[in-house]
Amino acid sequence: PELVHEKSTKTTCPYCGVGCGVIARVGDDGAVGVKGDPEHPANFGRLCSKGSALAETLDLDGRLLYPEIGGRRAGWDEALDLVATRFSRSIAEHGPDSVAFYVSGQLLTEDYYIANKLMKGFIGSANIDTNSRLCMSSSVAGHRRAFGADTVPGTYEDLELADLVILTGSNLAWCHPVLHQRLAVAKASRPEMKVVVIDPRRTMTADIADMHLAIAPDGDTALFNGLLAHLVRSGAVDQNYISAHTKNFVEAFAAASALDLPELATATGLTQAELRDFYRLFETIEKVVTCYSQGVNQSVGGTDKVNAILNCHLATGRIGRPGMGPFSLTGQPNAMGGREVGGLANMLAAHMDIDQPLHRDLVQRFWGAPALPAKPGLKAVDMFRAVADGRIKALWIMATNPVVSLPDADAVEAAIKNCPFVVVSDILRETDTARHAHVLLPSLGWGEKDGTVTNSERRISRQRAFLAAPGEARADWWQLAEVGRRMGFGQAFAHTSPAEVFAEHAALSGFENDGGRDFDISAHAAIDRESYDDLLPFQWPQPNGAARQEKRFFADGGFYHPDGRARFVAVEARMAKAASDALPFTLNTGRVRDHWHTMTRTGKSARLSGHLAEPFVEIHPRDAQEIGVADADLVMIESPYGRVIVRALVTERQAERNLFVPMHWNDQFAAKARIDALVAPVTDPYSGQPASKNVAVRAAPF
Ligand code: SF4
Repeated sequence: PELVHEKSTKTTCPYCGVGCGVIARVGDDGAVGVKGDPEHPANFGRLCSKGSALAETLDLDGRLLYPEIGGRRAGWDEALDLVATRFSRSIAEHGPDSVAFYVSGQLLTEDYYIANKLMKGFIGSANIDTNSRLCMSSSVAGHRRAFGADTVPGTYEDLELADLVILTGSNLAWCHPVLHQRLAVAKASRPEMKVVVIDPRRTMTADIADMHLAIAPDGDTALFNGLLAHLVRSGAVDQNYISAHTKNFVEAFAAASALDLPELATATGLTQAELRDFYRLFETIEKVVTCYSQGVNQSVGGTDKVNAILNCHLATGRIGRPGMGPFSLTGQPNAMGGREVGGLANMLAAHMDIDQPLHRDLVQRFWGAPALPAKPGLKAVDMFRAVADGRIKALWIMATNPVVSLPDADAVEAAIKNCPFVVVSDILRETDTARHAHVLLPSLGWGEKDGTVTNSERRISRQRAFLAAPGEARADWWQLAEVGRRMGFGQAFAHTSPAEVFAEHAALSGFENDGGRDFDISAHAAIDRESYDDLLPFQWPQPNGAARQEKRFFADGGFYHPDGRARFVAVEARMAKAASDALPFTLNTGRVRDHWHTMTRTGKSARLSGHLAEPFVEIHPRDAQEIGVADADLVMIESPYGRVIVRALVTERQAERNLFVPMHWNDQFAAKARIDALVAPVTDPYSGQPASKNVAVRAAPF
């Protein structure tokens, strides 16, 4: 219907890391309409299918509207007192590491900040981790190894300014659709721009590519090692940049030279001609942006892959200049914001390091905290192992659904079921995870909550409320602060608004920061509620008193290792794993265009569900023939960890011996389709990120 009410609110899309600006309007009849914000610098008015359907996901069906204890309605005071008492008791009896928070890139920065402050500053454990661990922790680890900080050097505009855009492990068209639209428009207006897509599958993203490299799963380190060796041999490296701003080049080059071209072809599954063509493009085109996403990150060698990419940009000095640089594409709306407040078990607030005594001292003094843990906490997969073996006795899960999304998901469900005390804060009453909670706390959803998020290009934008809170739902930061107060940490959790939380976060980022730390938004340290309400999207850093805002990092060095130099990292290419007779297929998991995560929101929209109505397995025609299935037949896929039953989608877009199953469906929407139940709980040794893209499985007709 035509909306006549003039009230419109500028906010930010709650789905992917592009972070598009949205204008929401509420009509006189209460109906909500959304459109892209033409003034938002991430999307300039565009929205993808998911963003456009936001209004279709706002009904109250299935919402959790009141706190519940053991399945009965309870008041907030009773529920919060119980959470505080049980957490305090566990800490008193078994120590601070007997409790944990598992949070989410769906939380707003203010929620995340309070969660991290409560766990690390006042409970005294670092057992707070996040589903962002599954999303981009390998990028974080790679950035920190190379740059000395988790810094994304470039901007979205660089994709438009580049003459060569490499997309590796990224189905940009479906996973970051508006950024893909920006790239497609730039390429249409400058046909000389080249796009290379590196992906075992031929996805929709490859449709705009000049070159699609159907790489073997986990072949990326070999590919980029080979590129570094080629750049050196062809004289394309920038010796001035290497000598002035980096260390360890010789070691990285030695490791990169380990495989010759035929061996690289074996390791990558590509032909020697394809390798030569790709290497020549990178060698001869100066303005190169290399974007990488989950296909790089979700791997037992994810961090090494990231460093193999960063090595090539450092070696050519193609970093931090317009149209040049490596670019990590964040999956979630606020994975970056979570990183900024230290929402990972191995980080501190404001991009500081938990293992640096000076940083711990600084944060402790700023917070007035009793003690900060001196060692990192448990990363996601290990955290749920600790729940399973009884080390963690009280667990608070916020805004995420680990029973569907974590590897070895059946074991995760069993662990949560047996945990003595589980709190779940969510907007829905019955998720696969929420059904095992002892205490359910109703949270605010998109359109109801207020705060900030940071997108993949370091741009902080406001999410604003335009709907009243339903039932007794309250903000996540408020729930955490209330529990903090009830645990006896009153003064530290006296915040009365998200504006106050944001101001404190901004002040901490600039506290004793002489420019040695990348994350600094202290220009906003004194922000009041009115200015917070009016806050326009901005990119960090914005230090207090800075004459101008830097858009990019590292063109002239200035890295965050103590000597100011970047580090090349010598990384070893893994040879492709041989398939076994028992598990002859390699399973890849990922997103579809129109659903988000475990579908708790997008599953409400008939329009979105109409794109791909049920879970499926993409299988090559020869493989389908060999196992005896035709299009739309049911296929059973099994690993040693679990099984799913999905329909066959027979397509040559899929490489032989490789399968793809989307990650979204769960038992609520389709029986036996939780694909993460098949994923082994193995992780990258540096980042702790699970390997969800290379799973050994078998497949048979059902
Ligand atoms: Fe939302 Fe991402 Fe789509 Fe933009 S591209 S509208 S942020 S889902």
